[in-house]
Amino acid sequence: MKQTLYRKYRPGQFSELAGQDHIKRLFSKSLIDNSYSHAYIFAGPRGTGKTTVARIIAKRLNCLHPKENEPCNECDQCIAINESSHIDVIEMDAASNRGIDDFRAIRDRVAYKPAQGKVKVYIIDEVHMLTNEAFNAILKTLEEPPEHVVFILATTNPEKIPETIISRCQIIPFRNMTVNTIIIHLQMITQKEGYKVEDDVFSYIAKRAKGSMRDAIVLLEQILRFLPKDEVIQKKDILQVLGGVDEEQYHRVITMIQQNQTQNIIDFTENLYNNGINFEVFLDGLIDYILLHIAQTKEPSLQKLNLGIAKKSSEMIKQIKYSDNPNIIFAIEFLSFAETHTLNKQMENTRKKDEPKKVVQTQQIQKTLVPGPHDEKATLHTKQTTTALEDHTLNSEMLKEIKSSDIDLYVALLYLKCEETSEGIIKIYKNNTHPLSNDVVELKEKILRDYFNKYSKKIEIVEDKEEPLRQIKQENEKVQQEKIPQEVRGIYDKLKKLFPESDIIIKDNQA
Ligand SMILES: [Zn+2]
Repeated sequence: MKQTLYRKYRPGQFSELAGQDHIKRLFSKSLIDNSYSHAYIFAGPRGTGKTTVARIIAKRLNCLHPKENEPCNECDQCIAINESSHIDVIEMDAASNRGIDDFRAIRDRVAYKPAQGKVKVYIIDEVHMLTNEAFNAILKTLEEPPEHVVFILATTNPEKIPETIISRCQIIPFRNMTVNTIIIHLQMITQKEGYKVEDDVFSYIAKRAKGSMRDAIVLLEQILRFLPKDEVIQKKDILQVLGGVDEEQYHRVITMIQQNQTQNIIDFTENLYNNGINFEVFLDGLIDYILLHIAQTKEPSLQKLNLGIAKKSSEMIKQIKYSDNPNIIFAIEFLSFAETHTLNKQMENTRKKDEPKKVVQTQQIQKTLVPGPHDEKATLHTKQTTTALEDHTLNSEMLKEIKSSDIDLYVALLYLKCEETSEGIIKIYKNNTHPLSNDVVELKEKILRDYFNKYSKKIEIVEDKEEPLRQIKQENEKVQQEKIPQEVRGIYDKLKKLFPESDIIIKDNQA
């Protein structure tokens, strides 16, 4: 079998290691004067060289002809370690090997002197995956490690390692590779392999690898395997091979969402699907594109919208991971996002138009009118001004939860009125001026009920509240009007015209 590029170009010495200068410095001295630790935690993202460095250390400690802090890579010891056949260098993957027995065996055997070399090196990858029992089994060994043993525990999630283990190890942070470091390394590999590649290909791969050298080399290999050696490899070639996307596409889809172009969004999705584009990769690229260009967007409302698209994309990536129909999720989520955005914009515009008027009206009412009687109907009337979101009867924790997991539902609640009955049932009133909110609440009624159930509340979704209220008011007015003495009827009618929404009560001062 042909060796993979990743294995072929795996650094055999510190000097070949790309990036991680702080780590090279750290091991430049301690390996020479034997001041190295006997238990390390190598913590950092995947593909940043943790097990590679662990192997270099294992070689240097066992090498027959070391030069300064570097192993020779030529002696029997180095060769055995490079071929993974050295008895004293034990590599384990905790993700697939979590059994307590193996770790008990380590504990039992650790006291024996190395059989083949000078130092026993245990390299345990993804160590955070170990069970508590397995951690306990090696804990004792870490407390007093014998002179001839070095433990290197590699992890992408150091926070999941018990404190008792961490406190007994020296922690070495591995950092994400910079785009530049990756580019230089990829250039070296393609040159040695005899390919001609345009520069923007490297930067595309480097960005897409997100700091992981391993991912970058795997991507490069995919390209080299598909493309001929005698031609210059261009970015358009690799977009085809990797199912990548031209930046122009990101710009297009953002515009479609901004302008709520339903049909275009559907066609665009279908086009991505038919071209075999990976939706996860597309969304990931879209987020990067937005974050990169956000500063150029001058208008704050557009900035906000673009960030909203980025946020939606990151939510979708999670959804898509577990779905057989990424295209459907993609289309539906962006369509509803575009719809909600348009609706919000309209709402904003009407609100802006209405606001000044409202203020004047309330002030006048306060000055002029005597407050109405506080009977049940009147209370109902005042409560009507709160929407589901403003009303403190809704649990704020629950609202936060809805907001983070179901923005559609949250936005719908923003426009619907609600109140709690004396039996503790939350009534949510559909509102004919916000048909989309009604639709969302109807469509997601089950989800909504689940949320409320979780917080021990029952809900009832009822028809538009305006209608019954208007009826009550009209009946009230009829009764009132009949009571109004003939001599003040004229004033009453004038006041009613000025403040049609308010209750007007005539008091008899003589009484
Ligand atoms: Zn050697």
